[in-house]
Amino acid sequence: MEVVGSTKIPAVSELVSKAKAAFVDKFGCEPQCAAYGPGRVNLIGEHTDYNEGFVFPMALPQVTVVVGKKSEGNVCRVLTLAESVDEPKYVEFPVPSAETPLKPGSPKWANYVKGVVANYIGSVVPFDAVVVSSVPLGGGVSSSASLEVATYTFLDALTNGGADVSKKDKALACQKAEHEYAGMPCGIMDQFISVMGQEGHALLIDCRSMEGKLVPMNDPNVVVLVTNSNVKHELTGSEYPTRKKQCEVAAKVMGKKSLREASMKDLEEFKEKLDDVMYRRARHVIGEIIRTEEAAKCLEQGDYTRFGKLMVESHNALRDDYEVSCPELDELVVAAMEAEGVFGSRMTGGGFGGCTVTLLKKEAVEKAIQHIQKRYSQTATFYVCPPAAGAAPLSLS
Ligand code: ADP
Ligand code: MG
Repeated sequence: MEVVGSTKIPAVSELVSKAKAAFVDKFGCEPQCAAYGPGRVNLIGEHTDYNEGFVFPMALPQVTVVVGKKSEGNVCRVLTLAESVDEPKYVEFPVPSAETPLKPGSPKWANYVKGVVANYIGSVVPFDAVVVSSVPLGGGVSSSASLEVATYTFLDALTNGGADVSKKDKALACQKAEHEYAGMPCGIMDQFISVMGQEGHALLIDCRSMEGKLVPMNDPNVVVLVTNSNVKHELTGSEYPTRKKQCEVAAKVMGKKSLREASMKDLEEFKEKLDDVMYRRARHVIGEIIRTEEAAKCLEQGDYTRFGKLMVESHNALRDDYEVSCPELDELVVAAMEAEGVFGSRMTGGGFGGCTVTLLKKEAVEKAIQHIQKRYSQTATFYVCPPAAGAAPLSLS
C-alpha cells in the first residue's frame, strides 16, 4: 500500500539482493544460504513479559536478513551493513569449542550474533555471512531480536534445517543470547514473536505458560501505523533492569511469585507496605496485564474503539506510573489522538524514545500522518505495517 507521507518498507528480496552483492564483494564468492527474522511492534502489554504477564505483539514487514555460506577452518566471519552500529562492522571469531569458548566483547553489535552462535542448539559449522536490515536500530521495534532470530534461522539453513528444535526453544536460545552476550535481562516477547509471527495475525503471548494464541488482524479497513520519534534518551541501559527489580520486590512484598499472580485488590491491601514508586510500578503492570487480555478479545470481536481506549490507558500508565515515556512520545500520542479516524495510540517497546503504535481507519491514515508531523516538534518517520510472518529460511536462486 502506497501511503503519502509514509516510508516505503523494502521487500525482503531487495534486502537479499543487497546482502548478496555485499557478500560477493567481501568474500569473493556467492552465498549459499539465507534467512530472515522480523522486527515486531507490540500493540499492547508493555513491560509485562518479565512479570509473567500477557503481551500482544505482531511481526513487522521490516526484517533482518543474513546471507552466507559454510567456510573452511574454524572461523566465523560476519559483516553488517547497518549504518548506526559501533565499529568495526566486520568481525571474526572462532567456532566455539572447549579450547576456544566465545565471550562477549567489542564491537557490541557482534555480541548478538556471537550469543546466538554460542547458544545454538546443534553443532555450528564455520561460516561467512553478511547482515542487512530494514528494522530501525534501537527504535523499540526489536532490531536486536530480529538479528538474533535471523542468525539462528541462518545457522539452521547452513545445516539443512538444523536439529529438530521447537520454535519455543529457538526463541529461548535467542533470549539467552541477549541476556548473556548483550547484558540485557529482557523477557521473552521479542524473540517469541520474531520466531512465531504469522501474516495477518497478532499473537497473544502468555509469558507464564509461554503459550501463544494467534488472533486474526486482517480487516482491510484498519491499519497499524508505526511512528518513529527518532529520539533515543540514553537512560535505557540502566532503567530497564531497575524496573525489573522493582517489580520483583513488589511481588515479593505481596507474597507472590510474580506480579502476574497479584490483583488490584492485593495491591490495595499491601499499599502501606510498598513505597510510592513501587506501588505505581506494580499498578501499571497489574493493570496492563488485564488490559492486554481484554484487548485481544476486543480485536477478535472487531471492537476497535475499546481496543484504542485500552491503548491510551496503557500509554498513560507507562507515562505516569511506570515512567518510561518521554516528551516526544507523549507529543506523538497526543497528536495521533487529535486526528480523525484514530482508535488509539501508545508508546511501544521499552520506552525513553523509539516508536509509537497507532491503530486507525485506513481511509484516515494520510491525513493522520500529516497532522502528527505538523504537531510534532521533531521529524518523525511513519510506517504503515501489515502484520507479517515470523522467521524463515530464504531461497537464493
Ligand atoms: P531494539 O531492539 O529496540 O532495536 P536494542 O538496543 O535492543 O534496540 O538493539 C539494538 C542493537 O542491536 C544495535 O545497537 C546493534 O548493536 C544491534 N543490531 C540490531 N540490528 C543490527 C544489524 N542489522 N547489524 C548489526 N547490529 C544490529
Ligand atoms: Mg531490543
